[in-house]
Amino acid sequence: MSIAQNLQHIKSTLPKHVTLVAVSKTKPISAILEAYHAGQRVFGENKIQEMVDKYDVLPNNIEWHMIGHVQKNKVKYMASFVSLIHGVDDYKLLEEINKQAKKNERIINCLLQIKIASEDSKFGMTAEEASGIIQSKAFSELKHVKIVGVMGMATFTDDQVQIKKEFTLLKFIFDGLKPLKTFNFQPETISMGMSGDYQLAIASGSTMVRLGSSIFGERNYN
Ligand SMILES: *Cc1c(COP(=O)(O)O)cnc(C)c1O
Repeated sequence: MSIAQNLQHIKSTLPKHVTLVAVSKTKPISAILEAYHAGQRVFGENKIQEMVDKYDVLPNNIEWHMIGHVQKNKVKYMASFVSLIHGVDDYKLLEEINKQAKKNERIINCLLQIKIASEDSKFGMTAEEASGIIQSKAFSELKHVKIVGVMGMATFTDDQVQIKKEFTLLKFIFDGLKPLKTFNFQPETISMGMSGDYQLAIASGSTMVRLGSSIFGERNYN
């Protein structure tokens, strides 16, 4: 099936309240344009340099999401245009995003990445760390970042029961944080679900799915 057909099929199965992030990492401009011409406007990349290179040559009404791990010293390269940073996993990074957003006279939306997987390799903070940041005085002084929700990645496993448990945990954590709402914590998004597990994620409360291979085909890493 073509990229346009994959997209059409996936979109027909997504509830209205779920945002589709088309994960285009490693994929060429031509593939992104094919998705764009099929109506897709939200794209996710996991490397800042690759996202900047694509941003430079693609239509400027694309919303770019940074879904990968973010190094502080590279925030400046995407601060002028990134529309959502999914993987914020520590306070120092929020400070840097705030600083770069201020320079660009904008507010950058972020998600706190919560560690829900049992694997050590996955990044993320605990629910306690997240609520600590949200309620801190220091965070309340960051006028150029807004935390709009949480993001999580399930363990890489075929065990549907375990995946479901982890997604349900993220939804539970989100619901616990929700009452802490302030001017720069406006929780509305739960980013969870990839090609292999997005239906389970949606059934568990996801409002944003990040799909790569089911849209663009398998990735080749060289
Ligand atoms: C690559 C990636 C995805 C998409 O993975 P697929 O299995 O191809 O859908 C989603 N989220 C993150 C954080 C990724 O790095």
